[in-house]
Amino acid sequence: MGNFVYTSHPSRIIFGTGTVGQVRDEVERLGASRVLLLSSPPVAKAAARVRDVLGDVTVAEFDGAAMHTPVEVTERALGVLREHSADCLVAVGGGSTTGLAKALALRTGLPQLILPTTYAGSEVTPVLGETRDGRKTTQSSPEILPETVVYDVEFTRDLPVGMSVTSAVNALAHAVEALYAPQANPVIDGMALDAIRKVARALPVLVADPSDTAARADLLHAAWLSGTCLAAVGMGLHHKLCHTLGGAFDLPHAQTHTVILPHAMAYNAPAAQDVMDRIADALGVADAPSGMYDLIASLGGPTSLRELGMAEGDLPRAAQLATATPYPNPRELTPEGIEGLLHDAWEGRRPA
Ligand code: NAD
Repeated sequence: MGNFVYTSHPSRIIFGTGTVGQVRDEVERLGASRVLLLSSPPVAKAAARVRDVLGDVTVAEFDGAAMHTPVEVTERALGVLREHSADCLVAVGGGSTTGLAKALALRTGLPQLILPTTYAGSEVTPVLGETRDGRKTTQSSPEILPETVVYDVEFTRDLPVGMSVTSAVNALAHAVEALYAPQANPVIDGMALDAIRKVARALPVLVADPSDTAARADLLHAAWLSGTCLAAVGMGLHHKLCHTLGGAFDLPHAQTHTVILPHAMAYNAPAAQDVMDRIADALGVADAPSGMYDLIASLGGPTSLRELGMAEGDLPRAAQLATATPYPNPRELTPEGIEGLLHDAWEGRRPA
């Protein structure tokens, strides 16, 4: 084994079924007594459950979390927070609601407790992406990292099957890119491969029987592992492309990850064959990029940028934007190479 550096990001993780019951104790553990509860209308049922458990500790609520964390939304929530002198943020939802909690924590220093309802993994990262005037910028800082995460499998039970597939592929993408990151190390490799194995096993079970709670538990566990990978090592081409497509062309986050992942893997495979072999092994297939594509297609996930509403004429600009600034990636990035990748993804071609 070679030398390595491993950086961990300290979060308190409560994982299980029915763990929402511990939320009030966890808020008290943070030394807080005045909660601002953050959510969005699609998760109103889960938010109501948290409200019940928190009782009179909740002093205010804000249910306007929006995709890509627009600063106008953060400023409105900040007004509510200040008006009610909240001393703690509790967020119920996917990456967008977590993003709002992180943006508020960055501005106020308040502690955060997150109850995730998707598999995005943002709850264990010190990273925040915010949108101002249509431009998305990303920053990383210890104040952004949530102090406590309460994973309750019950809170993912209502996540529609289609969203479960795309969100779990979003988690897979963190694990895949962690394996060929410049900072890759055996601790993170183990988490990444475990996450890939869990998702590959659980998703087909869930699609066949959306009420399978063991599959839901495996997916949520994988989401945590993958988010931990994302927090610990740098991401490459796949994340850069998805960030560009989401930010500049307003494509939906998890669906874009689902379409791009097999193609980003195919692009990088010639420069990271050993990693692809390990991924193939974890997926239980002979070839990782085409195996990933087949898994997604068999689960009914989106396979083309065309079906996500991207215009073919925008592909050259997307390729240019994604290669404008250099970043680490196993294989050299060229605008022509990336444009070819994007064309394949736009058409929904199966990697050879
Ligand atoms: P999301 O949070 O935007 O949720 C998508 C939609 O699904 C929303 O309408 C939401 O209300 C709804 N929803 C969420 N959970 C549900 C449930 N259980 N049942 C029914 N509906 C539900 O989507 P996401 O994919 O979780 O997060 C995407 C956002 O998170 C993006 O802005 C992305 O940039 C960010 N993100 C950040 C990081 C990071 O480390 N900073 C990591 C991953 C994602």
